[in-house]
Amino acid sequence: MQRLLLSCLLVLLPWISHSAGLVDRVNPLLGTDSKRSFSHGNTYPAVATPFAMTFWTPQTGEPGDGWIYTYQQPSINAFKATHQPSPWIGDYGDFSLMPMTGRPQTDWRKRASSFQRSSEISRPYYYAVTLDKYKTKVEMTSTTRCGHLRITFPPSEPAYLSIHAHPQGAFIQMRPQEKKVCGFTRANNGGAPENFACYFVMVFDQPFSCAGMSADSLLHQDLQELTADQVFAFLQFASGQSVTVRIATSFISLEQAEQNLAAEIGDRSFAATRNRSRASWEKELRRIEIQGASKDQEITFYTALYRVLLFPRIWYEFDGQGRMHHFSPYDGHVHAGEMYADNGFWDTFRAVYPFFTILFPDRDAEIIRGWINAYREGGWFPKWCSPGYRDCMIGTHVESLVADAYCKGIREFDVQTAYEAMLKDGAQLTDQGGYGRTGLADYLQLGYVACDKTREATARTLEFAYDDFCIAQMAKALNKPQDEKIFSSRSFNYRNVWDSSVAMMRGRLADGSWKPDFDPFEWGGPFTEGSAWHYTWSVLHDVDGLIGLMGGREAFCGKLDSLFLLPPKFSVGHYRREIHEMTEMVACNMGQYAHGNQPVHHVLYLYAYAGQPWKTQKWVRHACTTLYGPGPDGLCGDEDNGQTSAWYLFSAMGFYPVTPGTPAYVLGSPLFKKVTLYLKNGKKFTIQADGHSPQNVYIQSIRLNGAVHSKTWLSHADIVNGGLLHLRMGDQPNTRFGVDPESAPYSFSRAAGR
Ligand code: CA
Repeated sequence: MQRLLLSCLLVLLPWISHSAGLVDRVNPLLGTDSKRSFSHGNTYPAVATPFAMTFWTPQTGEPGDGWIYTYQQPSINAFKATHQPSPWIGDYGDFSLMPMTGRPQTDWRKRASSFQRSSEISRPYYYAVTLDKYKTKVEMTSTTRCGHLRITFPPSEPAYLSIHAHPQGAFIQMRPQEKKVCGFTRANNGGAPENFACYFVMVFDQPFSCAGMSADSLLHQDLQELTADQVFAFLQFASGQSVTVRIATSFISLEQAEQNLAAEIGDRSFAATRNRSRASWEKELRRIEIQGASKDQEITFYTALYRVLLFPRIWYEFDGQGRMHHFSPYDGHVHAGEMYADNGFWDTFRAVYPFFTILFPDRDAEIIRGWINAYREGGWFPKWCSPGYRDCMIGTHVESLVADAYCKGIREFDVQTAYEAMLKDGAQLTDQGGYGRTGLADYLQLGYVACDKTREATARTLEFAYDDFCIAQMAKALNKPQDEKIFSSRSFNYRNVWDSSVAMMRGRLADGSWKPDFDPFEWGGPFTEGSAWHYTWSVLHDVDGLIGLMGGREAFCGKLDSLFLLPPKFSVGHYRREIHEMTEMVACNMGQYAHGNQPVHHVLYLYAYAGQPWKTQKWVRHACTTLYGPGPDGLCGDEDNGQTSAWYLFSAMGFYPVTPGTPAYVLGSPLFKKVTLYLKNGKKFTIQADGHSPQNVYIQSIRLNGAVHSKTWLSHADIVNGGLLHLRMGDQPNTRFGVDPESAPYSFSRAAGR
């Protein structure tokens, strides 16, 4: 008997290892143990294909609340089609479904059902749960623009499915003869033109009778068309059966939704859609192979990769001839070509787009073509788009995306038009907020944004200077010497907000004097979601220049050291209350280093510019192992459209893009023994860390393709040409490696001889 069991196991084992793909290492629940006052990621378990136009998620919160699904909530009240990029931005074009038995309810509290965690399966391509109250199982899978749901009702109870087209103008038409429901919702939180709608078509595999409901108590048995601010429809099915529904979405029309359904699902079964979605993830996740990781690290790593591959979302659809077209969130018309949406560039320019340049260069170019179309249709590049212009955060960082792609040889976009849009950001005054640079007039006249005239002025100055650097890089590449001169000069404007008397970046008034009563621990005011301790390092393009301001390499490293030695104290500044990023800084337990928010994401790498790269190695490894985990509380702040995950992917691989817009990455400390990147050009790049262990965080020596590598950085070409980066690790710093100023990464002032 035992031998039989053993031989069965031996037969099964290869099948098991084959079937357990990387996608099954992904935990979409990672980051969902979040609330308004403290973010462990502020994520929701999106069922989606990479960059999907519509995501699908269970809903535990109140409809319309940004916290759609939170791990601590014990009940589910709907299954929702969502486009939400962040709880702080909110959703649009969202609608939901909910199965019920007994008497149907519209009130979300009354219809909510508890569920057992053991019944919940959450994967990128599949979500399943059993609703205890209704003894009903719900399963979801999806394609780029469609959802596919299977609902299994219990025997001998009236079986209902509610469809809720969310407020702000909704329509539902029921066609029971065709087993079909059509409709739309105009729900949005801004950034959408008047005529915006998300259209949906649902096709069922079982007959239903229907009833519309305008209030909890009133069922209109005959009503088959409903138009109102928000609309509920109820479908009744024969009890005890499994109902499958294919749901298409479109931002263009109901006809387009029908086409999307035919193209993406057609007559396929639920299992076939699930298998295709699974394969679409597996293909992308296999672009990175890691060896020597613990199971928890594998989950953390591949979940980060899943998060990076969700945003920005595809916003184009295919017409009858198979050509891309899109409803424009900028002018409300349908145009040919690419469109993407849902990105806060303030977050994502730092590491998400540089990550795309290495492993997804075609996607990077296509996304940039989308932002160029946004410029054509709306007149400006977006700053935070969801789905169109939103007035959120600072800087005009599409400049960074363009310069970064171009300098790495990714140029399959209209470079001249992109450049024109960059120049407009850098030159044309507007205080609209949703695009352009608020405070630009002062910046041009004074060389900085005056903090008595514009809020978050010093943060703006620093980010404008970096964006100007990106424009200058493009001007140089496109042989525009006049522009290059102007924008190169402006990229040194960070010096105008440096106050040597406090040795920090500081708020400066229009009359040239410093903002009085300086408190380096005060958040906000001249800064954005951070203090002087965080923004003083925001000179992404000229760390050498910053080292000079601080009085040299020793002083610079000393100041970095104190960042970690200081207590995590803060004053609430103009926020007047403790915002979640402050609380998260305390929880990081790394002094003033606040990894829960983006301004400091490059800071651990700065020692590598100042001759003490072993401190970068130590702190990066520390952050990777203490600030990231595989569970619902696995992040230390907002995930933010892939940025916090991209930081981890890069840092776990052993390098990070401190200066997007230059083709280089600063070395840290690889988290795994071996990482292999499978590149689009067919080549592979391997990072091998001999002697790797939890204690051996320090680089002893490096060989790149067999040759001694003495620099603290890698070029983009080093990676995409393929090859082997071979590191030897140890438990003590090699204080001779990376000390020489010649081995330091790129800085603009050194490159420009200033
Ligand atoms: Ca953030």
